[in-house]
Order: sequence, then structure tokens, then C-alpha cells
Amino acid sequence: MEKTLVIIKPDAVKRGLIGEIIKRYEAKQLTITKMMMLTPSRDTLVKHYAEHEGKSFFENLLAFMMSGDVVVMTITGPNAVAQVRKINGATKFLDAEMGTIRGDYGVDITANLVHGADSTDSAKKEIDIWFGL
Ligand code: UDP
Repeated sequence: MEKTLVIIKPDAVKRGLIGEIIKRYEAKQLTITKMMMLTPSRDTLVKHYAEHEGKSFFENLLAFMMSGDVVVMTITGPNAVAQVRKINGATKFLDAEMGTIRGDYGVDITANLVHGADSTDSAKKEIDIWFGL
């Protein structure tokens, strides 16, 4: 059993896609084990996106993530990290296969609907950051 951290980003919340997105994880027999909605603080986002600090898109990414409510979840199941990344699709919407969340709904490189931790180590760190608030 694996646990991962998923964020439904502000664009998806504003577009009314929370249900559509959660449905896709549940359809693959993954279980939502924690869930909360909040507008993230800069502090939390700096910790969450620490690996991207200094990159050209960093400030734009933070401004976007602070622009509204997000839904933060832990999702549990066999291979949860890889399953979620596959369901989410490639980071860049033009690379994301149709049938994935980003492939089906993505129209922007930053506002790309969802986040999924990229490893079990990242998942542990991110769960501490968000659910330790
Ligand atoms: N991002 C961006 N511009 C880029 C690359 C990434 O705005 O050129 C944003 C995008 O929202 C992405 C996030 O930064 O989801 C984190 O990037 P990462 O490469 O970690 O992609 P992810 O793990 O989210 O697929």
C-alpha cells in the first residue's frame, strides 16, 4: 500500500472539475484518505515547490497557486504515486495524452489542474507540509 499527495489546483476548482477529477482516482480503486480545501499561503508553497525556487516560472507558479482555493488530498492504494501521475498526465498539456486529466482539460502550462507527488519520499514530505499546517 502506498500513499501520495494530490492537489486539485485553483484553475480546476474554479472550472468546477473537483468531482470529475476525484472520480478518475476512485475509478482506479484509489482511496481518498484525507481531504481539505484552502487558499494556500506563500510559506506553504515555498516549502512545497522548494525544488523549483529560482526557476523562471517560480513566482508565476506561486501567484497562480495563491489565486484561489485548492483541494489537498492524501490518496492511498497499490502504486498510488505512479497511478496518480499516470491519471494526471504529462506536466505540459500539449504532451499529455488524451484520457488523462491534463490531456482532456489542460490549456495552460502553469494552470495544469492537478499536482501529484513524484515519489514516495516526496509524498511523505508533502503530506507533512500540508497536513502538518
Ligand atoms: N510549471 C510552469 N512552467 C514550466 C514548468 C512547470 O509553470 O515551464 C508549473 C506547472 O504548474 C507544474 C509545476 O510548475 O505542474 C511543477 O513542475 P514539475 O516539473 O514539478 O511538474 P509536475 O510534477 O507538476 O508534473
